[in-house]
Amino acid sequence: MPERVDCVVIGAGVVGLACARALARAGREVIVLEAAGAIGTETSSRNSEVIHAGIYYPPGSLKADTCVAGRQMLYRYCEEHGVAHRRCGKLIVAAAAEQIATLHKIRAQAEANGVRDLRLLSAAEARAMEPQLHCVAALHSPSTGIIDSHGLMLAYRGDAEERGAMLALHSPVTGGAVQAEGVLLEVGGEEPMRIIARTVINGAGLHAQPVAAALRGFPSGKVPPCHYAKGNYYSLAARSPFTHLIYPVPEAAGLGVHLTLDLAGQARFGPDVEWIAEIDYDVDLRRADGFYRAIREYWPGLKDGQLAPGYAGIRPKLGGPDQPAGDFLIQGPQQHGVAGLINLFGIESPGLTASLALADLVARTAAA
Ligand SMILES: Cc1cc2nc3c(=O)[nH]c(=O)nc-3n(C[C@H](O)[C@H](O)[C@H](O)COP(=O)(O)OP(=O)(O)OC[C@H]3O[C@@H](n4cnc5c(N)ncnc54)[C@H](O)[C@@H]3O)c2cc1C
Repeated sequence: MPERVDCVVIGAGVVGLACARALARAGREVIVLEAAGAIGTETSSRNSEVIHAGIYYPPGSLKADTCVAGRQMLYRYCEEHGVAHRRCGKLIVAAAAEQIATLHKIRAQAEANGVRDLRLLSAAEARAMEPQLHCVAALHSPSTGIIDSHGLMLAYRGDAEERGAMLALHSPVTGGAVQAEGVLLEVGGEEPMRIIARTVINGAGLHAQPVAAALRGFPSGKVPPCHYAKGNYYSLAARSPFTHLIYPVPEAAGLGVHLTLDLAGQARFGPDVEWIAEIDYDVDLRRADGFYRAIREYWPGLKDGQLAPGYAGIRPKLGGPDQPAGDFLIQGPQQHGVAGLINLFGIESPGLTASLALADLVARTAAA
């Protein structure tokens, strides 16, 4: 006989853990099933660790709304729970005069999203903040910051467990079926089991589509495509001359090779965009030349040999190379017709920033 539980969250990344926390706080019984032997080993530990202000996303999109709301919730949460973070601010730089119009567009879009603290700086004002920066103008975003993403996940996990949630590691969901009493999940690993849950949150990140497709009775036409856009990072093998995050104007599928800092002040550059067919986290060494070129647009002082291969992360994108970026997709019973199942598809950037807001939305959908 399968075990019966109230809620199962599939995946212990930052979004899955935030959902587990929100559901446990709403008084629900929660089990988190995680395939790996630890929390947050995939996208949640392979990103820029930036708390985004909510600047770039189309007004009214789920990305814009959950980023702006999530950022405010996240700063408050970090302060209350002692999660390491810093509101260091960022500069978006126009490296050439023809990019200044893009800065104006970015500021207008940010304002439409409710981000009203961006300030346009002259080259001299920007250089007063960052003497090594090359630009003809820049936008300053004071509410952008950085965060210890693993510390955040530990805090979400602790909160969820304090409210009774249980985390099962080494517990991959391998299949299941839609049944009258709930969603049946087949769990592999060393101690295979079957669980029937009234509510299932599919927060499997890069694997959310195959997990949904493996549920017998789930309408296959409702599983969206998933495209993998890998982002490689290179670290700076020297002390960072910058104290703000530095971003070029965005490119088609990403925000451009930017400089981000960790909480120790170490700089890293990335992520670029490499479309791949299979999950593969090796940093391609042949991409170094492209990094040097992109970074020197805004930091001509970068010397040969100063970049070292870092790590890579993969964006689970709903749109492919020549398609629009796509929004987050929270797909509940109203969208797919299966009671009790909520799929989280396309949770790329700014999912870390948006995690608390996304979790609130999921908990409300689960209660509806
Ligand atoms: C290169 C890059 C840079 C980014 N930078 C930022 C940033 O600076 N700021 C920001 O806000 N966001 C950023 N993001 C986005 C952010 O990292 C993600 O939105 C977020 O980490 C997604 O979390 P998640 O919990 O949905 O997925 P994941 O972290 O991928 O977690 C999914 C979990 O599900 C588990 N799992 C998978 N299949 C199964 C299964 N069958 N059974 C059980 N468990 C399973 C996995 O092991 C994993 O632990 C970035 C993303 C990328 C790729």
